Amino acid sequence: MTDLRIGHGYDVHRLVEGRSLIIGGVNIPSPVGLLGHSDADVLTHAVMDAVVGALGLGDIGKHFPDTDPRFKGANSLVLAAHVFDLMADLGYCIGNIDATVIAQAPKLAPYIAQMRENLARTFCTDIERVNIKATTEEKLGFTGAKEGIASHAVCLLVKN
Ligand code: MG
Repeated sequence: MTDLRIGHGYDVHRLVEGRSLIIGGVNIPSPVGLLGHSDADVLTHAVMDAVVGALGLGDIGKHFPDTDPRFKGANSLVLAAHVFDLMADLGYCIGNIDATVIAQAPKLAPYIAQMRENLARTFCTDIERVNIKATTEEKLGFTGAKEGIASHAVCLLVKN
């Protein structure tokens, strides 16, 4: 039987002035950015949590604690490369990733292709296996009020 593992990740970061807006490793022009210990890349964190979850290894807070000065301002794609190593060491590769970013603003469509490329490269898979969607929540809730951005991700891992 094929050894498959499914994983889910969810993340939220607060929007504040004076921070860069980095989503899926893309620095997006915006008057506000996401607050966090690392670069606060909400999409990459959700994808990392999905992969870590599929491996049964807890969550990314356990692997990259926000109390650790090594991760202050960290490029989340570099952290994701560590998650790839964990996955590869256990003999898995990406079957596919499907993720949704929930943001009222800015419009993310122009940046989706680059986000897919960044995540596919980091997880050593084909861009066709990394799907990213963006949606608003119709001005409802904290994402609608532009107080923060959320992201969901699911992944399927396949044993080599
Ligand atoms: Mg996070």
